[in-house]
Amino acid sequence: MQTDILNRYLFDNLHARGELVNLSQTFQEIVAPHNYPSGVKNLLGELIAATCLLTATLKFEGEIAVQLQGDGPIGYMAVNGNNLQEMRGIARMSSETDATSLQDLIGKGNMVITIRPKNGEPYQGVVALEEETLAECLAHYFEVSEQIPTKIWLFTDENTSQIAGTLIQLLPDAGDKAQQEADFAHLCQLTNTIKSDEIFSVDSQELLYRLYHQEEVRLFEPQAISYKCSCSEEKCLNAISQIEPSELDNIIVEQGSVSMTCDYCLTTYQFKRPQLEQFINDSKH
Ligand SMILES: [Zn+2]
Repeated sequence: MQTDILNRYLFDNLHARGELVNLSQTFQEIVAPHNYPSGVKNLLGELIAATCLLTATLKFEGEIAVQLQGDGPIGYMAVNGNNLQEMRGIARMSSETDATSLQDLIGKGNMVITIRPKNGEPYQGVVALEEETLAECLAHYFEVSEQIPTKIWLFTDENTSQIAGTLIQLLPDAGDKAQQEADFAHLCQLTNTIKSDEIFSVDSQELLYRLYHQEEVRLFEPQAISYKCSCSEEKCLNAISQIEPSELDNIIVEQGSVSMTCDYCLTTYQFKRPQLEQFINDSKH
């Protein structure tokens, strides 16, 4: 079956939209450089699927970062995605853990969603992680920040390293309030019937037919999802050029070069003195 695909669709008669994502290779590439325990890997998988769903709601070029921050063994987890559905993600462990639930992994904390349009001011929304699951926290986020009824379902399959997610959202200004609520409840009820073995084994077109064949569904062209780390030599040089020159000198004298490792993909960038001096010189002009 086809994976690493985002499907978007409209329920014309119900004033609602839907999304369905299914990832395999993208997820495996994100976790491959790291040795995460299975509970951490599953939660990161859920966060990746959720971020795909969120980036698909962008109406402009830009990117979304979804961060979980707390006092648990995973103090920080973050996934970035852009309108091209290029994803990357990271979990930082402060201690070893075999926990599996959101609360046991992240502890008391927040979910921070940052939206960065390519042209325009960034926007940030924060909600406390008070719900039991990540999907419920996201629904709460939409309720608080956007006041749009939204429901998200997230799935992970540890054995095959596949993740999936689906979203139902009412369109803004959808008309009569009672009718809207009834339509939303109806779509949620249909979506609730997805079984996790089905979402990982049935092609999305077929799955959408099974779920919504009684409704009028308008499908858009599917979009490919891929893994891409946004680190680069230039970004590292920029960061290094912020270091105090005397401190930079000390590092070069001690180590012969300055190196930086990307947290996400673990690529190490190494710079010798002439290259650094050239960059710092060039950026002055
Ligand atoms: Zn990287």
